[in-house]
Amino acid sequence: MSNNPHGRTRGLLMMVVAPSGVGKTSLTRRLVADHNDLHLSISATTRDPRPGEHDGRDYHFVTRDKFQVMIQDDAFLEWAEVYGNHYGSPRGPVVEALERGESVLFDIDFQGAMKVHAQLPDDSVLIYVLPPSLAEMSRRLHARSQDSEEVIARRLSRAKDEVADWERFDYVILNDDFDKAYSDLAHIYHAERQKRARNPWIGNLVADLLKEEV
Ligand code: 5GP
Repeated sequence: MSNNPHGRTRGLLMMVVAPSGVGKTSLTRRLVADHNDLHLSISATTRDPRPGEHDGRDYHFVTRDKFQVMIQDDAFLEWAEVYGNHYGSPRGPVVEALERGESVLFDIDFQGAMKVHAQLPDDSVLIYVLPPSLAEMSRRLHARSQDSEEVIARRLSRAKDEVADWERFDYVILNDDFDKAYSDLAHIYHAERQKRARNPWIGNLVADLLKEEV
């Protein structure tokens, strides 16, 4: 709950990063579905929708011109070019959620997560999801048959570079079992919400407690 009789919990920004094929989308979608005080940040992108993707649900699909206008309007918290397309996290919904005491989950890449963290270090929590092995990651990428051999090789090599940077994250989750990885993620969210710094109302509660005559 973001509210209680004494005041409001400050929201946080959950930055969840993982190489492709690690099950990040299933983990993050479930966390958002299970928490009505947590919202998914819907990125804007210049890439074309894939079959089954919907504008406004998976991404805001925009033209390159529109994306440039958004950059000029400072409408992004961060933006980046990934594999030749532009992707950006709209700033407005994030600011609004934090003002309501709610939280936002970002399903973005490594560089985007680091950029948001640099801007809002106290509000953001960096989480990295590890595959059990690169061989398993490769197996999953082949099984979903979405990428060419060349793209898979590129994703595996990028995963190696990212994993080597694991110490830049606040938490590292191993996804060798979906339910366990989900439980770890949910526990992190709950514990981060409980942090003293995110609950300034505790000061008022304690002041009231100390005034009580017993
Ligand atoms: P895809 O095209 O497969 O949906 O995404 C390609 C990559 O772009 C993924 O690594 C995804 O996490 C990343 N991405 C998606 N949205 C954003 C965003 O708003 N900012 C950044 N920096 N990366 C994003």
